[in-house]
Amino acid sequence: MTRKIDIFDTTLRDGEQSPGASMNTEEKLVVARQLLRLNVDVIEAGFPISSPGDFESVRRIAELAGDQAVVCGLTRAVEKDIDSAADALKYAKRPRIHTGLGVSPSHLRDKLRISEDECVERAVKCVKYAKKYVEDVQFYAEDAGRSDYNFLVRVIQAVVDAGATVVNIPDTTGYSLPEEFGQRIKYLVEGVNGIENVKIAVHCHNDLGMATALAMAGVKNGASQIECTINGLGERAGNTAMEEVVMAIKMHGDELDAHTDVNTREFCKASRLVSSITGMNVQANKAIVGANAFAHSSGIHQDGVLKKRDTYEIIDPADVGAGTSQIVLTARSGHAALKHRLEELGYELEGEALDQVYEAFLNLADKKKEVYDEDLESLVNERDRNESALYTLEGVQISCGFPLTPTATVTLKNAADQTVTACEYGTGPIDAMCKAVNKIVQVDNDLTEFAVQSVTRGIDALGEVTIRVTDPAGDIYTGRGADGDIVVSSTKAYLNALNRLLNDKQEKRG
Ligand SMILES: [Zn+2]
Repeated sequence: MTRKIDIFDTTLRDGEQSPGASMNTEEKLVVARQLLRLNVDVIEAGFPISSPGDFESVRRIAELAGDQAVVCGLTRAVEKDIDSAADALKYAKRPRIHTGLGVSPSHLRDKLRISEDECVERAVKCVKYAKKYVEDVQFYAEDAGRSDYNFLVRVIQAVVDAGATVVNIPDTTGYSLPEEFGQRIKYLVEGVNGIENVKIAVHCHNDLGMATALAMAGVKNGASQIECTINGLGERAGNTAMEEVVMAIKMHGDELDAHTDVNTREFCKASRLVSSITGMNVQANKAIVGANAFAHSSGIHQDGVLKKRDTYEIIDPADVGAGTSQIVLTARSGHAALKHRLEELGYELEGEALDQVYEAFLNLADKKKEVYDEDLESLVNERDRNESALYTLEGVQISCGFPLTPTATVTLKNAADQTVTACEYGTGPIDAMCKAVNKIVQVDNDLTEFAVQSVTRGIDALGEVTIRVTDPAGDIYTGRGADGDIVVSSTKAYLNALNRLLNDKQEKRG
């Protein structure tokens, strides 16, 4: 049997830190359920001290996961952070505290302003402090990718002696080359006494497009945990993509002496879900989950694949859940059929929630006859977005064309259940609609990005709109909306972005 590599997902922590990708607690729970279906080993659910929302997310995901996965909370090497993480993880069956600090010359000198001795002392102190609360303590040596080899050995030796169960070696800035990073891991394996009793984790960023290669180099040299995210979401250029490392291990398990327990058939769905919730679209040529990942257009390639798939295709699309979209339901499908299909897709809806999705489904089925899995996912996500909304859309009417002046009339319902209508004109229908919405919502914002995508093929497909807005503080908020009419999806997306902005400001005010 090959070595088991633990998959540590940090979509909900590192991934969520990417600009415009923030998720609320309900959305994080939806993603967490999908992570459990993927059968990941560890879920890093958030950074509890950073906000009440993060605390609540960690608490609820800890309850949700039961004993199926380890649930982890991030902290700095600070006692009050660790207290807060321990509190959030109180009801976790398998809690882990993830604590640590910077170890590179740049972090010691310019960020922490401490000596090497002080760094070791703090590292030991935070691990021992976390150990008072939980048995499973993971230490991160931030910016290890740019640290001095011997100093890194010294820090890791100290935290292993202090009782750390996992040591995380991150290439925080995505600076390393794979071969060198592998050597670094090997140096630890050879230089730290007792390292065989703990797990070595790698956490690699994609600033040079090498996150996956770095993680693989780590595994090859002794790492037994990979930290990663769905779609490679994460700070800046992102984190290691889970679908990439897991499939690379699956393809090369023997030479790496490694395997994972991830259910790879859930990858495409996980990708769509995270993209839909965060509004971060996946490029068509993205490995494993991109729309073109299994598309062959050259005649020679097509001919080869038709004769035998593995002439040009190393992965069976079905293994990652790609290309399985089916016409599942029509307007004649009943409540029970919808509920059943949603359950197969992993959504458990009851009562009013199910009724709402059923109603939306009937509307859609009336218009486009054939409803695909992707359509259903989109309808469920649409309903979830409305759940925590301060403003909901009651109606939108647009007149535009040539030579008309584009005009929009928008009716919204506010949190106090009052209906408000506004009318505006603009340079185009979207401009007019945004102005009308702004007249009612009255919150300062700049629309910085606007994109339309169809959910499935066909001219009658649902149009999904992604909108990004920036507030005067520079914070970015993403909104999504889906509808058969793209003006309606645009209005929903804009409103979704503004609702997130308002919710966030409210949460920050406490
Ligand atoms: Zn990171």
